[in-house]
Amino acid sequence: MDEESEKMVVEINDPVEESQEEIINLRRCHWCNKEEEEEHEFQEVNILRKGDEDFNVYVCSSEHESRINKSYNYFDKIYILGLILIFFAPLVFVSLTIFVDMIFSYPVFVSIGLGLLIYPLFSQQIVRALGLNKSNILGRILGTIIVLLGIVLFLIDVLNVPI
Ligand SMILES: [Zn+2]
Repeated sequence: MDEESEKMVVEINDPVEESQEEIINLRRCHWCNKEEEEEHEFQEVNILRKGDEDFNVYVCSSEHESRINKSYNYFDKIYILGLILIFFAPLVFVSLTIFVDMIFSYPVFVSIGLGLLIYPLFSQQIVRALGLNKSNILGRILGTIIVLLGIVLFLIDVLNVPI
C-alpha cells in the first residue's frame, strides 16, 4: 500500500469510528425516539413484561413513560389474541386452503393483518431504532394494508369485481 492510499484509508475509517461511538452513547426516548440533549437528561426506567425478562429504557418525560407502560400493559393483555390472529388462525386457514378450498386463503391475510393491527409484533431492535410510538404506527399501517390486500384479492378472485 503506498502512502497516499494509506492516508485515504485512515480518512475513511475515522468518521465511521466516531459515529459508532456516538450511536453507543446516544440516549433516545423509548417512546418518541428523541435524542437526549445536554440540558435535558433523560430518566432511566425499568420495563417489566409478563413472562419476559425486564429491561431498562430511557424516557424524555413522565408522560412518555406512562404511554410506554400503557402500551406494554396492553400488549401483555392481548398477547394471546395476537398470537391466535398472527399464527394459529392463519395455520388453520392455510391447512384448509391446501386440503379443502382456495377460498380459505383470503382469511389468512385478514387474520394476520388484524393481528398486526392490534398487536404490532416487532423485535426490540426495531422498537429501539424507531421508538415504540412509530413502531405501533408502522404495525397498524402494515396490518391495515394486509387486511385490505386480503379483501381486494377476495373481491377480484371470488366475486369477479372488475378493478
Ligand atoms: Zn419521548
